[in-house]
Amino acid sequence: MSASPVPPTTAIRLVDLRKSFGDVVAVDGVSLEVSDGEFLTLLGPSGSGKTTVLRMIAGFEQPTSGTIELAGVDVTRVPPYNRDVNTVFQDYALFPHMDVLANVEYGLKVKKVPKAERRSRAEEALATVRLEGYGARKPSQLSGGQRQRVALARALVNKPRVLLLDEPLGALDLKLREQMQVELKEIQRAVGITFVFVTHDQEEALTMSDRIAVFEVGRIAQVGTPTEIYEHPATPFVAGFVGVSNLLAEGVAAAVLGREGIWSVRPEKIRVMLGSPAPEASERAAAGVIREVVYAGMSTRFIVDLDAGATLIAVQQNTHATSEELNSMRGQRVTLMWNTEHEVPVGS
Ligand code: ADP
Ligand code: MG
Repeated sequence: MSASPVPPTTAIRLVDLRKSFGDVVAVDGVSLEVSDGEFLTLLGPSGSGKTTVLRMIAGFEQPTSGTIELAGVDVTRVPPYNRDVNTVFQDYALFPHMDVLANVEYGLKVKKVPKAERRSRAEEALATVRLEGYGARKPSQLSGGQRQRVALARALVNKPRVLLLDEPLGALDLKLREQMQVELKEIQRAVGITFVFVTHDQEEALTMSDRIAVFEVGRIAQVGTPTEIYEHPATPFVAGFVGVSNLLAEGVAAAVLGREGIWSVRPEKIRVMLGSPAPEASERAAAGVIREVVYAGMSTRFIVDLDAGATLIAVQQNTHATSEELNSMRGQRVTLMWNTEHEVPVGS
């Protein structure tokens, strides 16, 4: 026997998946592999086909063409209840008349798991989502975040190989959402289940994912790690959907960069300098006027109209300046500077 480590197996393989609803092409040729234990996010605007892909993986929707494999087995024609997959939806869909423990146990009861085992697995799942001691409450006696955790426990109790989550944090307010993002990621690491997570929120995707698939009208525009997607967006669409794109194209690219094509510089890479200091050899300099200064506590956004024609956004941490000082910069002539390695091509 070889002692070498076992390579990660493929949990999900989608091959040229397509789905039409009448004239609407919802999913238009999606191919994707998800590794065992991976946290993969489908990110894209509303209507780009994310939910439809998830529903096809779960088996709630039949693809028009293409195939779906789970753990190497073609399940394209297999009904949902015979797929080793669970789904968590945005509207938790808890049974309001049942207490928390009964809600979590429900799936096991349907599968005729004996009562004692049911009970211990449900309690274990509640502990995983940090809801020990909440078993006797009704869903109406829980906060939104707690209800979402019950929904998660109800899926985890089945120990599925794959968990599909469709905008599960969408109904929560921002603070709670940010907290749940961290918790959900911790839970996923602890249980080691493959997660396919759908969101339209780029920050959420960057925060939680091992890899992100960016959706644009039924297709995947780019797949990569959060860093790859953010630092090297493959298209202007990806650059604009994930973060502030700051595009330099055509005449402006020629004037400022001396280069052809479309380029992006992320706002936090740009320094705002008063006057016209000389750049180093590795630096780019672009002169302009500050149109707007937006103070945001931790950081400030400068919206700068370049003499060459484009508008760029620069973000600076507020280490020293006061809001009064920053506000007085409106209308001033500045030089924007960045390292040339931070100008990245985003196609043409
Ligand atoms: P997302 O989850 O990214 O918002 P969806 O997968 O829900 O996108 O939808 C993709 C496209 O397919 C949209 O144009 C939507 O209106 C359409 N669509 C989704 N489900 C149906 C359906 N059951 N019948 C008709 N059109 C649908
Ligand atoms: Mg959706």
